Amino acid sequence: TERTLVLVKPDGVARGLTGQVLARIEAKGYRLADLRLLHAERAVLEEHYAEHRGKPFFEPLVEFMLSGPVVAAVVEGDRVIEGFRSLAGTTEPTTAAPGTIRGDLGRDWGLKVQQNIVHGSDSPESAEREIGIWFA
Ligand code: ATP
Repeated sequence: TERTLVLVKPDGVARGLTGQVLARIEAKGYRLADLRLLHAERAVLEEHYAEHRGKPFFEPLVEFMLSGPVVAAVVEGDRVIEGFRSLAGTTEPTTAAPGTIRGDLGRDWGLKVQQNIVHGSDSPESAEREIGIWFA
């Protein structure tokens, strides 16, 4: 079995979508292994998004992630990393496929950062690294 880190980002929590996101994860057959509601610290976000340091959207992304509470979850199941990314849809919510979390629940708000409701780890290495950051 495999684990991934899922975040419900501040836009998702503020819009009251946490329950829907968790319900879709559970309905797909994955298991919640750990769950927290928290205000992220800047240092945690800078580590989480280290690969994007230096990009034009890095600082706006960190500011957005600091703008309100987030939900962090460890989700378990066979092939959950690719399974959750498929459930989440592509990065840009306007064009993410209907049926996905981003495609059904998100859109472009004309802001500097894609407010796309959720994050999911993109590889086993990222998953273990990110779980270590958020569930230290
Ligand atoms: P995630 O990692 O959030 O599950 P992803 O792999 O599709 O989704 P990344 O490329 O890792 O996205 O980017 C991380 C986050 O940074 C995105 O989810 C989005 O909020 C923001 N982002 C990425 N690319 C852009 C961009 N070109 N302009 C604005 N914001 C962006």
